Amino acid sequence: MYKFTHVNATTVADAATTLGKGSAQVIAGGTDLLTYMKGMCSPNPPTTLVNIKNVTGLDYIKVDGTTLKIGALTSLADIAASTVVSGGWNVLAQAAKAAASPELRSQGTLGGNICQKPRCIYFRNEQNAFSCLRKDSKGSCFALVGVNTYHSIFGAVGGCIAVCPSDTAPALVALGASIVTNKKTWAAADFFVLNMTATDATREQINALAADEIVTEIQVPALAAGTKSTYMKFAFRKAIDFPLVSAAVVVTSAAGTVSKASIVLGGVYNSPKRATDAETSITGKAVTTATADAAGAATAAVATPTALPANKYKAQIAKTLIKRALLASI
Ligand SMILES: Cc1cc2nc3c(=O)[nH]c(=O)nc-3n(C[C@H](O)[C@H](O)[C@H](O)COP(=O)(O)OP(=O)(O)OC[C@H]3O[C@@H](n4cnc5c(N)ncnc54)[C@H](O)[C@@H]3O)c2cc1C
Repeated sequence: MYKFTHVNATTVADAATTLGKGSAQVIAGGTDLLTYMKGMCSPNPPTTLVNIKNVTGLDYIKVDGTTLKIGALTSLADIAASTVVSGGWNVLAQAAKAAASPELRSQGTLGGNICQKPRCIYFRNEQNAFSCLRKDSKGSCFALVGVNTYHSIFGAVGGCIAVCPSDTAPALVALGASIVTNKKTWAAADFFVLNMTATDATREQINALAADEIVTEIQVPALAAGTKSTYMKFAFRKAIDFPLVSAAVVVTSAAGTVSKASIVLGGVYNSPKRATDAETSITGKAVTTATADAAGAATAAVATPTALPANKYKAQIAKTLIKRALLASI
């Protein structure tokens, strides 16, 4: 385990001040960060962990007007169990429920879920045995020439083919959510952007947060009348496993015809990947087995040429998940 100093912050401003001094990271539930620290995976470990669990007012689920607001410290278990979330934004409740295990969902927070680090086997290699490009700008992507069975099927970003492992991220992008921090409000689609020109510690992130930026709230707009949403995930194990592929689908229909579809894949790219070809394919049509299959096929056709020989199978899983999630959303 890396040595670190533990600092208890009582306000977001307190936490930001400590983070601003450098070599510090937020700790919330600790389910991701502590395993990373114990594995001694990083050449840039934080020397200070800033505990935000004592900051009051960051653990809530409420509807303000028509907007769903969730505090960053809200546990995945609370989101999964919330009838408010499942009633209006089912895809998010299902995504939270699909993550990890009951124990990890109880301890893990939504803020931590959207800020967790990649799960690439080279990135996570204990004792930092591989000089991975994601942690070291002078390193290289070992997955490109080594084991890439679980990696991106839509190409690399800045030479890295690790995927975004978060279950809630694709749901938040599909819902058009916003991520509120102490500095600004991000559209979810802009938040999950890998910055390979950032400093070595910052490029380990799956998002574009600044080093002293703290997520405080997640906001999700009300969905239009006639909208249904579904999250489906495929992993090798049925319990406690990250998505090989997941699909978050939000579909608005009128008179049996899809007027708007938001389809976002997880586990297939550095960030949640919008399946625009599937969206175009299903819009203006009734969702049937045939049209849902065609929508999935449209995205699989785009992924297959960019997929690697060892992970082309994920394009077929994406196709099937899009089809099934569309059929479950009518
Ligand atoms: C065995 C195992 C299985 C798992 N399976 C899954 C899975 O299937 N799906 C999935 O999505 N995740 C999975 N996880 C990852 C993790 O448990 C969850 O993502 C969890 O929600 C992380 O939340 P946390 O509060 O524990 O984060 P922490 O570990 O406290 O933090 C994670 C990262 O986020 C940063 N951070 C935390 N909160 C904030 C904030 N408010 N603002 C800015 N930065 C912040 C921290 O600095 C750290 O870098 C798994 C983990 C383990 C150990």
